[in-house]
Amino acid sequence: MKCRKCKAVAAVALPSHNTAFCPDCYPVFVRSQVERAIHRHKMIAPGDRVLVAVSGGKDSLALTLLLHELGHDVHGLHVDLDIPNSSTDARAACEGFFAKLGLPLTVIELRREGLAIPLVKSRIKRPICSVCGKLKRYYFNKFALENDYPVLATGHNLDDEVSRLFANTIRWDHAYLSDQGPLLPAESGFARKIKPMYRLTEFEIANFSFLRGIDHVIAGCPYSGKASFPIYKGLWSGLEERMPGAKVQFYENFLREGRPVFAAWSDQQGQLPTPCTECGYPTSAERCGVCRIKAMVADDEK
Ligand code: SF4
Ligand SMILES: [Zn+2]
Ligand SMILES: [Zn+2]
Repeated sequence: MKCRKCKAVAAVALPSHNTAFCPDCYPVFVRSQVERAIHRHKMIAPGDRVLVAVSGGKDSLALTLLLHELGHDVHGLHVDLDIPNSSTDARAACEGFFAKLGLPLTVIELRREGLAIPLVKSRIKRPICSVCGKLKRYYFNKFALENDYPVLATGHNLDDEVSRLFANTIRWDHAYLSDQGPLLPAESGFARKIKPMYRLTEFEIANFSFLRGIDHVIAGCPYSGKASFPIYKGLWSGLEERMPGAKVQFYENFLREGRPVFAAWSDQQGQLPTPCTECGYPTSAERCGVCRIKAMVADDEK
C-alpha cells in the first residue's frame, strides 16, 4: 500500500478512512484531525491557557505534544492516585515527558488529601473506578478554576467516547446522554472541557505515539479488572473490523441527532446545581460527592 500524500511505502493503514500513510506523513494526518476538531467545535479561543489532564498513558501525553506543536499554551496536571505498582511509574512518565518538552506540570497527591485510592477502596463499598473517576474530575476542575485556566483538555479517544456512549445508551441514562460530547461549555463552577482527540481511535494514537517516540506507561492499573468499558471496547472493535467507520458514525450521528434531544430534555428539568456547603463545588445535593467520600473515609477512621 502507498502513502496517500507522498506515495512512499505506507506504514499505517486506516480502513475507516480508506487510506494509508508513511511514517513521515502519518503524524501530520493525526495533527490535522486534532486541529480540525478544535476548530470545528471552537474548543480553544486565541490566547486561552490550556490545562491538560495527564495520566502517563499514551493518549494524554500524545495530546500534550499535539497541542504544544499546534502552538497552544499548555500546562499539565497529574493526579497521583498512590496505587501500588502503578502510580509511581505513571507519575514518572508524566514528569519525564514534561521535562523533555520544557513544559510546566503540577502534581496533586491524593494521599495528602487523605484520599489515597487504596484507602478509599478499603473504606467505600462502591466500584472503585467510579469513585476514582469522580475524584480525578473534581481535582482537575478545581485546579483549573482556582488557577484561571479557562480550558481543561483530556486525552479521551474515539474508543473511550464510543464505549461511554454505548454504556449510557444501554442504561438510557438521560442525564449523561444530555451532555456527552467533545466540548462541554464552561458554566458556573465548571471549566470548559474539551476532548480534541475524540475522532482518533486508540490504534491511531498508539501508532502516533510509537512513531513520535512517546515514552508512556504501559502497565495498566491493578484495579481495572472489573471495569466494564474494556468489554464494550472489545465489542466495538469486532464491529469496526466488519464495518469500518462504524464507531465514528455511531458517535457523530449521536452528536447530530441524539444529543440535542437529550439536552432539550435536560433543559426542561431545570435542575441547576448549587454550590456544595463544604467546598463550593457544584452539586445537586447539599454536599458534593467528593465531600461525602471524604466524610465516609474519615468516619471509618474513628
Ligand atoms: S482503573 Fe479505575 S482505579 Fe485504576 S486509575 Fe482507572 S479509574 Fe482509577
Ligand atoms: Zn507519505
Ligand atoms: Zn464539596
